[in-house]
Amino acid sequence: MAKHRRTANRSNSISGRVKIATVAAATGAILIGGAQFGAASAAARPLEIPPGLLPAGVQLPAIELPDLPAAPPAPGTPGPVNPGSPAPLKVRAVQPVSGTLSSGYGPRWGAHHGGIDIAAPIGTSIQSAADGEVISAGPASGFGLWVRVRHDDGAVSVYGHINEFIVNVGQRVAAGQQIATVGNRGQSTGPHLHFEVSDAGGNRLNPSQWLRDRGVSVTWGAD
Ligand SMILES: [Zn+2]
Repeated sequence: MAKHRRTANRSNSISGRVKIATVAAATGAILIGGAQFGAASAAARPLEIPPGLLPAGVQLPAIELPDLPAAPPAPGTPGPVNPGSPAPLKVRAVQPVSGTLSSGYGPRWGAHHGGIDIAAPIGTSIQSAADGEVISAGPASGFGLWVRVRHDDGAVSVYGHINEFIVNVGQRVAAGQQIATVGNRGQSTGPHLHFEVSDAGGNRLNPSQWLRDRGVSVTWGAD
């Protein structure tokens, strides 16, 4: 019977980059491993040798290989829509009303105008500027009636001086969904929508800029 010669050559490198087990048996040398693994921190798993590959009586030295990355899903397999870290949330926005810009954002009559005014006939449809949840729908000081929508990024949009609202508090609305009609209620000198946007921290933003930042080209002109 041939004499078995066994050589184990195991790298003890902490980094675990290369682990090679070499077995020289009567049938010749079998090289196992030799692959380079960068994931030293991966959990070790026992090396599995197909039965019948080694001559009887030959045992491999104990070696550990890191777990291999999971195989990618087969084509057509449903997977996460957005693997990895998601992009920063930026809500999709739409122009909330059609009309003519009658007052921009900022200083006005010695005070700060916290939104923009869009003049339009009474009854003109007002749409939610983005997806969100209705948090106000009813009377409001100065605005007569208003609707407020909290969007999915925490921003809040305000629709003031409306003639009527057609949504209720707690209702989920989509960008472009009608929520109200243009009116002339409250402290208003003519039919228009007062449109306001605050960020998640309650800071008022220039609504025209907010829309521009979301790719909306408003038809009422720049301000
Ligand atoms: Zn206004």
